[in-house]
Amino acid sequence: MLHPAAMTAGTDASIRADLSPASRARVAAPMGNATIVRRLVRGYLKGQWGTLGLAVACMIVTAGMTAALSYLLDPAIKLIFLDKRADMLMLIPFAVFGVIVVRALTTFVQQALVDTVGERAVAAVQRDLFDSLVHGDLAALNAVHSGQFVSNFLYDATLMRDAIVRGIAGLTLEFLSLIALAGVMVYQDWRLALISIFVLPGVAWVTQKIGSSLRRAASSGMAETAELSTALSEALDGKRIVKAYGLEDHVASRANARIDGRLKYLVRVARTRAGAVPASDLFAGVVIAGTIFYAGYQAMHGEIGINHFASFLAAMLLALQPVRNLTQLWATASSGLSAADRIFAIIDTKPRIVDRPGAHVLAASGGAVRFRNVGFSYRADAGAPAIENVSLEAQAGQKIALVGPSGAGKSTLFNLLLRFYDAETGGIEIDGQDIGHVTLKSLRENIALVTQEPILFDETVAENIALGRRAASQAEIEDAAKAAAAHEFISQLPEGYATRVGEGGLRLSGGQRQRIAIARAMLRNAPILLLDEATSSLDSESERQVQEALARLMAGRTTIVIAHRLSTVLDADRIYVLDRGRVVESGTHSELMKHSGLYARLYQHNLNDEPA
Ligand code: ATP
Repeated sequence: MLHPAAMTAGTDASIRADLSPASRARVAAPMGNATIVRRLVRGYLKGQWGTLGLAVACMIVTAGMTAALSYLLDPAIKLIFLDKRADMLMLIPFAVFGVIVVRALTTFVQQALVDTVGERAVAAVQRDLFDSLVHGDLAALNAVHSGQFVSNFLYDATLMRDAIVRGIAGLTLEFLSLIALAGVMVYQDWRLALISIFVLPGVAWVTQKIGSSLRRAASSGMAETAELSTALSEALDGKRIVKAYGLEDHVASRANARIDGRLKYLVRVARTRAGAVPASDLFAGVVIAGTIFYAGYQAMHGEIGINHFASFLAAMLLALQPVRNLTQLWATASSGLSAADRIFAIIDTKPRIVDRPGAHVLAASGGAVRFRNVGFSYRADAGAPAIENVSLEAQAGQKIALVGPSGAGKSTLFNLLLRFYDAETGGIEIDGQDIGHVTLKSLRENIALVTQEPILFDETVAENIALGRRAASQAEIEDAAKAAAAHEFISQLPEGYATRVGEGGLRLSGGQRQRIAIARAMLRNAPILLLDEATSSLDSESERQVQEALARLMAGRTTIVIAHRLSTVLDADRIYVLDRGRVVESGTHSELMKHSGLYARLYQHNLNDEPA
């Protein structure tokens, strides 16, 4: 009895594999800050210049209004308090209120606009990241830590947004406000203004110290965040094993260690950040005290008017906020830029498996497959190659089987035929055409992959089947389901074909998932079928249905099956026995049994293992 394999189209399998945890090495060297900024501006602010222009215009007005507020204290004191002019008693408060209203309005508009620009940039980055995820090579994707990807996708993108938003606001609003307020200060008393300038080197020093300390703590915190995301996704993906093996405490303590590690860094970030403003305030305090002393001394000698001093002091106090914000700007920009660097490293990982120049569309007829002296290693530093000098052939419409011990290289042959990886030596042909010289799209369109575990997406049953061929009509979907013996149970689902299957198809039984997956392969209607037999068995009724569905699926196609239960390959046209990456025997079942080699031994073992 052939044990059914679950199925999916090739791309599904690769998406699944992408999310499997592994570790990822950073590919590109870190970029310089100037390069990152240029790229952010060109790539992610493009098309938003209108919005930005309006925001900057509002910022100019806001900065002007802030300065106007401090300036207005001068006439207010002089004309109202000293000259006691009744007309000004009406006019000046009105002017102050007017200035505050305009400033409130422009502050609101500029904030909303800059935040929108930031969020749009994040969305664009996330689109690029996802694009690079799904289009990446399987080899590169297998190396992506799923948690790291999640943290790049969610947290790094927001760090980047903060840097953009604060960067724009810092460079324009804070800077312009400082200039405008400095203008008022110089206008009111240039000697006092000169004293204030002494605060700047101190503030710059604190800013730089705090910025680099924040950057270190933030990047360690990011690494811990990535680990935590991985622990989380592993606990969710492996929930059944976690429960069945009673691993709750183990999984929780691993996650706790990550949470503690992350906490340590985040607390450090919080403390450093909290220290930034008070530290720069200390310098400001010295200057304020010095100013009051100097101004008071001058006033006692009648050289400075109270109106000028009040206006000057107001401008100086108002200038504290932009200075504080600029203090934090470097810290935010630093962590944002290193986040952008991590993001760009992923986006820049270009797939190596691509259409070669001059690649043509595969003109498949019967789907004959031939491997000629194929050799391949997953890693250059691996001892023995995964596949060595493998030659095999499946003529159009034949069924051939790959058998062999675990790790013999059976799945690797599938990976090579689908060009998830490129063979290093030898060649693979379909209907006489080298697969290296045809387009990837046409190659994969001609192959239906049926994996051990059915992979369903949390969409409707109909959509899951239609993944085999996106353009399929409802009638075609139902025909495929009928051929896969799935129509009946689908019709009994609460919403029939429109029923959502739940995450990973969890709302369906194992056999039902497999039949949906078979229907998907049916719809794909590819001449070549790659079947990786499921190792787990279903109950006999379910298995019979899946078996029938598979028989219909195989009819008229070239099928290569990875057989885990040798009883399922008795009818194969040819069986290839692999061991340590090499074909050690081949022939029909009876030929191989006569030979009394590895196959005969495996078969004997298998018979003993299988229930009668
Ligand atoms: P099984 O029956 O257990 O699925 P298999 O015959 O399909 O085994 P392959 O998965 O093809 O075996 O593996 C062949 C060899 O390649 C093994 O030694 C395995 O460790 C190695 N290998 C497989 N996948 C990778 C990978 N992504 N990176 C590195 N090595 C790999």
